[in-house]
Amino acid sequence: MTIPQIVERAEALGIDRFIITDHYENVSDSGLRRFFIPDPEEHLAQLRAYGLPTGLEFGWDTETPIRYPVEAYDFVLLSFHNLKRSGFRGAIDYDAYLEDVWNGVNLFRHFTVLAHLDLPRRYVEGNPPFSQQHYPHFERIFKKLIEDGKGIELNCSTIRQYGQPNPARDLLELYFNCGGKVITLGSDAHKIDDIGKDLLKGRAILEEIGFRYLTVFEDGEYTFRPL
Ligand SMILES: [Zn+2]
Repeated sequence: MTIPQIVERAEALGIDRFIITDHYENVSDSGLRRFFIPDPEEHLAQLRAYGLPTGLEFGWDTETPIRYPVEAYDFVLLSFHNLKRSGFRGAIDYDAYLEDVWNGVNLFRHFTVLAHLDLPRRYVEGNPPFSQQHYPHFERIFKKLIEDGKGIELNCSTIRQYGQPNPARDLLELYFNCGGKVITLGSDAHKIDDIGKDLLKGRAILEEIGFRYLTVFEDGEYTFRPL
């Protein structure tokens, strides 16, 4: 997908505020090198040339030294896909994953929202949910985010995969009940047809839970826009 194609599609769908977040994976695992932005300056310049906020999905393993200029971006989705301790694909240890996320958000500060928080669910057969036993882990992460003025993403792509967003509805409720307000909606589109997909379903879930605002980036700053 090219930037003009994305812009055209988003406009056709009536999405007037959006941020393109190409994925840079900051890990030592060379198998993930395909998620690599070779020239950050060029990447930033391209987005600016279209008058778009500069966005990035920044994946990290909590260990690999960070040399990418993450702080140059307006909006950073922090994600954890590749964690040695919790494993990836097949058998994923949810507790170890959450421990890794906790370490990650304490070690790294240049992000806006945490991406697809219960991501491992996507990769385990049958997509088993995180349970109430994991709530203390989530609460600790949510309180840290809120304290730091950061938030989470409601990622809609798993609505099409297994009927629940990332994170699932009960976890969004937990975030809300912790006092979480900063929230963004993402379609995680990797092809034109998926741009904006299920955003309205995601918005409806937020409204049902009690959220009143979405966080959007406007005129160089974050602002809350009524849902
Ligand atoms: Zn991701």
